[in-house]
Amino acid sequence: MSKHVDVLVVGGGINGVGVAQFAAAAGFSVLLVDRGEIGGETSGNSSKLIHGGLRYLESFQLELVRKSLGARRDLLALAPKLVKPVRFYIPIYRHSQRGALTIRAGLSLYGLLSEFDPLGRFRKVPRSEWQNLDGLATEGLEAVFQYWDAQTDDRLLCQAVAHSANLLGAEVWEQSQVVGIRHHGDGCEIELLRQGQAQQVSAALVVNACGPWVNELLGCVLPPTTSLAIDWVQGSHLLLDIAPPGGIMYLESPVDKRVVFVMPWYGKTLVGTTETLLESLDSKPEITEAERRYLLALYSRYFPNAGSTEALAGKICGSFCGVRVLPKVNGDAFNAPRDTLMHTNVSHPRLLSIYGGKLTTFRASSDEVLNWIKTQLGSRPVVADVDKLILHAAPSRDDFASQTG
Ligand SMILES: Cc1cc2nc3c(=O)[nH]c(=O)nc-3n(C[C@H](O)[C@H](O)[C@H](O)COP(=O)(O)OP(=O)(O)OC[C@H]3O[C@@H](n4cnc5c(N)ncnc54)[C@H](O)[C@@H]3O)c2cc1C
Repeated sequence: MSKHVDVLVVGGGINGVGVAQFAAAAGFSVLLVDRGEIGGETSGNSSKLIHGGLRYLESFQLELVRKSLGARRDLLALAPKLVKPVRFYIPIYRHSQRGALTIRAGLSLYGLLSEFDPLGRFRKVPRSEWQNLDGLATEGLEAVFQYWDAQTDDRLLCQAVAHSANLLGAEVWEQSQVVGIRHHGDGCEIELLRQGQAQQVSAALVVNACGPWVNELLGCVLPPTTSLAIDWVQGSHLLLDIAPPGGIMYLESPVDKRVVFVMPWYGKTLVGTTETLLESLDSKPEITEAERRYLLALYSRYFPNAGSTEALAGKICGSFCGVRVLPKVNGDAFNAPRDTLMHTNVSHPRLLSIYGGKLTTFRASSDEVLNWIKTQLGSRPVVADVDKLILHAAPSRDDFASQTG
């Protein structure tokens, strides 16, 4: 007889592991499957920031920023070993697009939206301290602001949430790809390839948390269902074999004025991200030569002591890419809203698909999905309160706290 669960969660990125944890804690039987490894795709290749998203203030996404700042506060409390406060520095140069007044106003609003969180404070860094900013270029520098946000090891965070779900009773299967879903009135029959072997599972509900492959999964649903039109935007990071900065530098690209971060990462320096619209997802996303040049030019511009772009190329010791799912908009994909969208179809009431979102806000999205689950299946005796469950690194996984000192 094939396995039956209340909820099958497809995709072990941050959205899938969060839903699995919330649903298991609420007393539902859960199976979480991923065709690769937990946190192995977008969620393990992000900029690793647990943040309100200061730059989203520019596109007036105030509610997203407020929600994200609340999520930051919760995650710092629930995952103290995996999410850590970090200083951010914003240098303002004579030719910066965002001047000191704009930044001061933005940081004041950021502080207000953080609702009296101690991390909501910011300061102007005195000129006498500029020499401590890891060799940041001072020519034309007019002011530097310092504020707070948080950093995580995104992959370890996903694994920790999946581990928590598992402790609450959810089964977690890696190397398990869903290849077919037959939707009917009472639930879904699912075809899987588990470590290459065909396997059937049935579920009262299916949550599609396949990230950039959300529509690919919908494509294997019978009878056919609808999907949302999306854009895929690739973001790449370069890891440089350079001693890490003491905080995260919030820099304006000299090329297109986008914000790019220079961050400490396990004793090295991480630079990212880019935004490159993809035509398709047919092959594994790889950093392009143009992205590499863009990131090196930015680093070389702001840290002139590190040498030219050519010299810096020899210091590249790694790179990675993630792909954002953004709702298709006319014109500018880069300013599209970053909120998470939940998609259901009246003809397929047993299936919900998650589109986009942020690492930071996964708990709010999970809660929204849990409400949908309860609407469909009713409530169950609660197993645990997710607002009180401390997240620990999964056993045998590295410890972010000890590695970053
Ligand atoms: C470059 C970049 C930087 C970012 N930086 C930040 C940041 O600093 N802070 C922040 O809050 N957010 C950030 N984000 C946003 C955030 O990373 C994403 O919104 C989030 O990780 C998406 O998670 P997900 O679970 O939806 O998708 P994924 O993490 O991609 O998970 C989807 C999973 O589904 C699996 N899957 C796909 N198809 C199948 C199938 N048929 N069967 C089984 N499994 C399947 C895949 O293997 C994958 O593991 C960033 C995004 C990008 C691209």
